[in-house]
Amino acid sequence: MSDGLAALSARVRSDLARIAHPSMPWLTPVTGPDGRPALDVLIVGGGQSGLATAFALLRSRVGNILVLDKADAGSEGPWLSYARMPTLRSPKDFTGPDLDIPCLTYQSWHEAKFGEQSWRDLNLIPREYWADYLVWYREVLDLPVRNGCEVIDIAPAAGGLLQATVRSTDGETTIHARKIVLATGQEGMGDWNIPEPLRHLPPSRCVHSGAEIDIATLRGRRVAVIGAGASAFDNAAVALETGAARVDLLCRRAEIQLIQPYRWLTFRGFLRHFSELDDAWRWRFMRAVLELREGFPQHTYDRCAVHAAFHLHEGAPIVAARETADGVVLQTAQGEITADFVISATGITMDFARRPELKRFAGNIARWSDRYRPDPSERNDRLGAFPYLADDYALCERTPGETPWIRDIHVFAIASTMSFGASGSSINAMTTAVPKLAHGLTRGLFTADIDKHWASFQAYDVRQADVRRGAAGRQA
Ligand SMILES: Cc1cc2nc3c(=O)[nH]c(=O)nc-3n(C[C@H](O)[C@H](O)[C@H](O)COP(=O)(O)OP(=O)(O)OC[C@H]3O[C@@H](n4cnc5c(N)ncnc54)[C@H](O)[C@@H]3O)c2cc1C
Repeated sequence: MSDGLAALSARVRSDLARIAHPSMPWLTPVTGPDGRPALDVLIVGGGQSGLATAFALLRSRVGNILVLDKADAGSEGPWLSYARMPTLRSPKDFTGPDLDIPCLTYQSWHEAKFGEQSWRDLNLIPREYWADYLVWYREVLDLPVRNGCEVIDIAPAAGGLLQATVRSTDGETTIHARKIVLATGQEGMGDWNIPEPLRHLPPSRCVHSGAEIDIATLRGRRVAVIGAGASAFDNAAVALETGAARVDLLCRRAEIQLIQPYRWLTFRGFLRHFSELDDAWRWRFMRAVLELREGFPQHTYDRCAVHAAFHLHEGAPIVAARETADGVVLQTAQGEITADFVISATGITMDFARRPELKRFAGNIARWSDRYRPDPSERNDRLGAFPYLADDYALCERTPGETPWIRDIHVFAIASTMSFGASGSSINAMTTAVPKLAHGLTRGLFTADIDKHWASFQAYDVRQADVRRGAAGRQA
């Protein structure tokens, strides 16, 4: 570690110690049905959301927690895998996992590592730097993370606990916890979405942009990219940069979308209070935002447009696809396009039963379509499938009483978007959303223990003063 970074790490520890108040532990240990200690909170997913949630809980003196991630240490989340852009899209001064602690910001890390001039010269944050920053963040905060551990089942357990089944190279084990936070990323409540006409194609011909792709194999080949959001352009760009013979980007809409709705909604009022609006307002806003999808920045477009092999087709939804000896023939509203390989950059779908850890109770997770019926002009079945979350990000039951224990499972990912606006997992919303989640978790833990707190208060007999000593010292 460089001297600058070592000094920053020391500063983080010192600053956090100065603002540790109130530092008294307040949760009593709980034992699971197997006789082993149970966690207060198990966080599934060690990407930026899981890490920031762990930090917020530690600051709230909820220390009996654990973060599990199926990925290897340092490779959590998209940054070193399917994020195919050289830099983050957010402006460099958007703070996030730091939760408003100045010495924990990306800027502080960057300046400590590369100097203040380097920060001033920086345009956007290289995504590898962001991944490095998250590794440092986890280390400096000493967050309890275990990698190579996949949660494959969540079930109710005796004593009002949850039981998570965890698979690792050591086999399967169980962990008990009072609460579970699912910070499982973009596809965490379903899967990557591939349009129906492409679904019969084999992975050698068509994959989702969220999959691992050996980009070098695209050299000299014809590539079709489906979708026109930021990820679609990123995938087209890496194919072009690696020497693809031709890249066709197929945009379903009549025109590509040029505005980025998430920029509009990045203000404290919206981020903090959107979730307090009634269902009609929340539906109206998020339907408009999510139907627009993610806009792409100028540099993302330029990265493609400089290549003569790049062809953009607007108003070209996929109608059908067939495999031929010459490649995949994509039938679009604008005619046919033949490609050797298709990348479908078409977002996610909510489908709870597709996730092993949700399977047991998938059928009873309340969706927006169960709770709110929009005007027919505002209907959208895709968005109706998003989970309808309580004000602490907890799952709600579709049929009350069938699986009441899911009330202790909290979702902190893009799936939270319909209920909370910007979900919190994107950088722009974290400083507002993570404290809100932590507040909901501590509220649940505190209120569930209210009898214990009352008994503890009644038994409290720590005297602050010795009045007899005062009397003895009084002057006659
Ligand atoms: C390509 C791309 C670019 C983006 N660029 C930006 C940007 O510039 N600015 C911005 O604000 N946002 C951006 N985002 C959005 C958001 O910041 C990222 O998606 C970010 O990774 C979200 O963090 P997360 O922790 O919620 O999820 P992730 O980083 O995806 O982490 C989820 C973790 O959960 C683990 N996991 C999942 N299921 C299990 C399980 N059952 N058991 C154990 N572990 C599990 C995964 O291994 C993963 O490490 C981008 C997203 C993508 C996809």
